[in-house]
Amino acid sequence: MSRKLIIGNWKMHGRLARNAELIDALRAGLAACEAEVGVAVPTAYLSQASHALAGSTIALSAQDASRFADDGAYTGETSANMLADLGVSYVLLGHSERRQYFQEDNAVLREKIEAVLKAGLKPVLCIGETLAEREAGEHLLVTEGQLEVLKALELGDECIVAYEPVWAIGTGKVASIEQVAQMHAHLKQKLLPIVGCSVNIRVLYGGSVKSDNASAILATPNVDGALVGGASLDAESFKKICQAA
Ligand code: PEP
Repeated sequence: MSRKLIIGNWKMHGRLARNAELIDALRAGLAACEAEVGVAVPTAYLSQASHALAGSTIALSAQDASRFADDGAYTGETSANMLADLGVSYVLLGHSERRQYFQEDNAVLREKIEAVLKAGLKPVLCIGETLAEREAGEHLLVTEGQLEVLKALELGDECIVAYEPVWAIGTGKVASIEQVAQMHAHLKQKLLPIVGCSVNIRVLYGGSVKSDNASAILATPNVDGALVGGASLDAESFKKICQAA
């Protein structure tokens, strides 16, 4: 069994001084952590974080990448090759905020995943249903549809999916352990024929993970880690979550 993976998603938060403090605290507190830990930093601060994390066990993650793999006339974009050049290991793709505010759909995400893989980075595909979809009983079908983007891809040795029910992100509402267990088992079952048995599948849970609920969530069968938003901006909370893994 692989180690749990905990990624802190800073979203659009941070300033040079605050980032430096946060990274220093995490470096000191997580040196002996059993889980694999990463921080998904805003693009503007990837270079700073890359230098600050050098020689540590904490991996650098980006929050998005351009769908264009190679450099070119794409003003405002950041290519996966640039992310690789900065020392990025993981790239979040398809976060519900990107789906909601930037209209990212399966077609765009497919191109982004391909670009990230081509640059030798690991995509973390974020999926999850809205409250209306959950209440209509469509959550299993919706998330299954979101996995379609992974079909017939050369994923390498690992496939990482983060299940984040949209209604639990930043709301303080956590999916119940039963809901998490059902969804993670479902996703693992659906992913196996899509990616094949030689690929290590990791399904992370995201949605209001905090220091007081992390142990229970991370102990749930088929939960291979967590994607943590708000609580990852507080060093003490994030360290506790990582240590719960
Ligand atoms: C997220 O941003 O992916 C997330 C899960 O946020 P939060 O932990 O704040 O709900």
